[in-house]
This record gives sequence, C-alpha cells and structure tokens, in this order.
Amino acid sequence: MITRRSFSRAAAGAALAVALPRAAFAQTPAPLSLPPLGYPFAALEPHIDAMTMEIHHDKHHAAYVNGANAILDKNPELSKKSVVEILSNLGAVPEASRAGLRNNLGGHYNHTLFWELMAPGGAKEPAGDLKSAIDGAFGSLDKLKEAVNDAGMKRFGSGWAWLVLDKDKKLAIVSTANQDTPLELGAKPVLGVDVWEHAYYLKHQNRRADYLKAWWNVANWDKAAANFKAAQG
Ligand code: MN
Repeated sequence: MITRRSFSRAAAGAALAVALPRAAFAQTPAPLSLPPLGYPFAALEPHIDAMTMEIHHDKHHAAYVNGANAILDKNPELSKKSVVEILSNLGAVPEASRAGLRNNLGGHYNHTLFWELMAPGGAKEPAGDLKSAIDGAFGSLDKLKEAVNDAGMKRFGSGWAWLVLDKDKKLAIVSTANQDTPLELGAKPVLGVDVWEHAYYLKHQNRRADYLKAWWNVANWDKAAANFKAAQG
C-alpha cells in the first residue's frame, strides 16, 4: 500500500535526484564523481545510438572526471571553491593547472549539463517564459535551431554550440572550442550541443549536420527551462 507518507518521501527523493548534478557544482569539487546518465543508453534511439551514449558517458566523461580529480588533488586550496567558481575565473587558478582544469573540469561541467539536456520523453518544445524569450530574441523556435546548428557547423574541430543567457541577461548563441564553457564568457548555459566527433561519429561519421538535425528530437525543454530560470537568478 502506498501511504501518503511513503509517497511524499518518494517524491522528495525524485526531486533530490533531479537537483543533484547542479547542486554538485556548488559543493566542494574534489573528489568529483561521474554522475549517472539517468536513462538507459538506448533511450535516445534512433536519434542518438546506444553505443555512442555508452562510450561518451562511461569513457569520455569518466576520463574528464578522473583528469580533473588528478589536478584538484594537487591543488587542495581549490577545494574551497565550487566547480562553477573555478571555471568562471580560470585566471585565478595556478597557471600550471589552468589548461588541465579548462579541459577536464570544463569537460565534466559541460557533459553533466549535456546528459540532462537530452531526454527520451518530456516537452518537445519550449513553453512559458523560455518560449517568449526565444520568440523575442530569434523570431521562432525554428530560427533558434538554425542559429544553434549554424554555430555548431562553424565550430572547426571540437567544441560546443550553446544557447546562453549572456552577461547582459540576454539570450544569445555562442560556440566554445574544446571543453571551454560559457562560464568563461560570463554567460550561463541554457542549452548546449556537443559537436565533438565522439558525440556522433559511430552513427553519422563525418555528417555533423545530420547529427545536429537529429539532436533536436531528444532536446529536453523542461531542463532548458529550468536552466533559463536559474540563469536569471
Ligand atoms: Mn563529449
């Protein structure tokens, strides 16, 4: 029998699970752990294939976590700072560790966002305040997708395409190289697409445009809306 009390506890547990990755960014960063994917590797088929998801999460993201922990171990003074604080002001970290943190801690931050920005179900398009803001800034959802895809296509080599709230609190499209984060630009991420070849090569090979087109089928607009709200705070 599901009592009212056990239901409340289950609901609180679900809310906590959803909140954990973001909360983790605000806590002492070392040692970092690989967050669970939150859905099966095959959940995003046929748009994103299961083997890509497994290697991307269990190997690539895990390597960023291990790489970041190795650097944080050597810099105990950084344990007082959150992941967001470190990445927002990389100029303040020891120069010898800066590139390693940009790549590995940035990789951990970006991918933790990315897994949550994809979902097998959920809202298929933005609603409410985010929809209004997108329509105001870009004209329509289709125009936004075009702009993000264009940023992803123009990123030479590896990197990311982002919808962010910029330092003037306006929606904007930016692209970052490698594992650089929007935080370095003074921007807060709303939605981001990984355009490294490891995100699509097994299924789409060299056809990044096909991957970008497919990606929108799994975009989690509920999470994007939550990021938008948090970014305004
Ligand atoms: Mn990646």
